[in-house]
Amino acid sequence: MTRAYYVTTPIYYVNADAHIGHTYTTVLADSLARYHRLRGERTFFLTGSDEHGEKILEVARERGEDPRATAEYFSVRFRKTWEELGIRFDRFIRTTDADHGEVVRRILQRVHDDGHIEFREYEGDYCVGCERFLTDRDLVDGLCRDHERPPERRSEGNYFFKMSEHFEWLAQYITEHPDFIRPERYRNEVLSMLKEDSGLGDLCISRPKARLDWGIELPFDENYVCYVWFDALINYLTAIGYPDGEDFELLWGASEHLIAKDILKPHAVFWPTMLRAIGLDTPHRLNVHGYWNVDGRKVSKSLGNKIDPLIMREQYGFEAFRYYLLRSMSFGVDANFTEESLVTRINADLANNLGNLVSRTLNMTGRFADGRVPAAGEGGEPEQAVRQAFAEAQRSVDACIESMEVHRALEAIFRAVDATNQFLEQREPWKAAKDPARADSVPTTLYTCCEALRITALLLSPFLPETAAEILKRLGLEGALEGMRLPDDAAWGAIPPGNETHKGAPLFPRVEMPEGGA
Ligand SMILES: [Zn+2]
Repeated sequence: MTRAYYVTTPIYYVNADAHIGHTYTTVLADSLARYHRLRGERTFFLTGSDEHGEKILEVARERGEDPRATAEYFSVRFRKTWEELGIRFDRFIRTTDADHGEVVRRILQRVHDDGHIEFREYEGDYCVGCERFLTDRDLVDGLCRDHERPPERRSEGNYFFKMSEHFEWLAQYITEHPDFIRPERYRNEVLSMLKEDSGLGDLCISRPKARLDWGIELPFDENYVCYVWFDALINYLTAIGYPDGEDFELLWGASEHLIAKDILKPHAVFWPTMLRAIGLDTPHRLNVHGYWNVDGRKVSKSLGNKIDPLIMREQYGFEAFRYYLLRSMSFGVDANFTEESLVTRINADLANNLGNLVSRTLNMTGRFADGRVPAAGEGGEPEQAVRQAFAEAQRSVDACIESMEVHRALEAIFRAVDATNQFLEQREPWKAAKDPARADSVPTTLYTCCEALRITALLLSPFLPETAAEILKRLGLEGALEGMRLPDDAAWGAIPPGNETHKGAPLFPRVEMPEGGA
């Protein structure tokens, strides 16, 4: 059986540019997709933009333009940003794409025909920010808890998806599949949402066109458009060719959604119940991460403390920023961005540890081995320790990716890099070369370091693809990554002796703390 991996980011709302939160999720998805491609699995990586709904209409009004123009403007900017940053997605879906509209309408018709949708008159407190009617629990002192503004009193006839009929099933499913929602804290949060007294009822899935005509028209009532979540979530099916695409079943069975915790409810409650009504399995896994705070505060548009990935690239290089994001967030828990912690991380891990090993190894290979990877002798315990460090790193990377602990996968790789630096200190080839009693240890020492760098590059390549390619190039292995596979190519001893090496400029120059701190 072909192994498969289907990873998704949320489709991003086209009312602002990409910030640190979007960048983290996208970089994480890109890294996971690259890792699974390295394993030779059928991999599909989806990202995109969510373009319908009242919030877009509001922004369009502010900008004095048609919602189509607003959606186009921000969607193109998102896509270009990811492309410029080297994110290798398989599809960038837009909810305004023609095939998506067709899939949504086909599903709506089917779910309606099967009796899962009902027309009801409803009156209640409506929050434009949330795009839904609020319950008492959503209100704090009469204001929407999330948006801190008063809801509007609205009455309208709408179509409802009879979501609550599936709550009992869903609670049981979540309990019986403890790996479905992770980490565990979010599973528990969802289980309490599903309790009878939580106030979560059925899902309104329509808006009268008289009020909102920016959306996909309901196939069974031309006076209404589809409510955004029902439309948006279905993107995960459209992208892989629902219902009869060649790999649809294979990929859907291997689906991994990455989301931030603010959209837990739609993904953990609306979506599985919708899928049940459609007659499809739940996603394989729902992976929920925390927020990125900036200097201790939650990122929001109004705070204006967005961290623009393109500016980070200019200041620090995108690979360094990418490393920082992946290394600094423990999955599921909030993380705090400060420029000091970014600079500290770059200098300690990338400039000192990795950068140092690359430059020392290639310098000495130039000086003591005519710039060619030497042939290795037997070696002794120190060489054995380096080999073990890399075998251990490879096992850790596998295990940590499986458990969504990417920060620990990186930690494991850098532990092996550190062990190689210590090995160099121990073998002292710069002294041994001048000591007739030890001079014949030098080729083996340098071979060990070159091979350590090759495996470092391979293991790092899902996370730092450009850095990995550059290290390989300097080892005389330009373009080799394309043909490499995990786990086979992580086995020790594959670098060809005689390969021509190149010293190159410092891989990660040390960076200075920003003026006056961050
Ligand atoms: Zn709200």
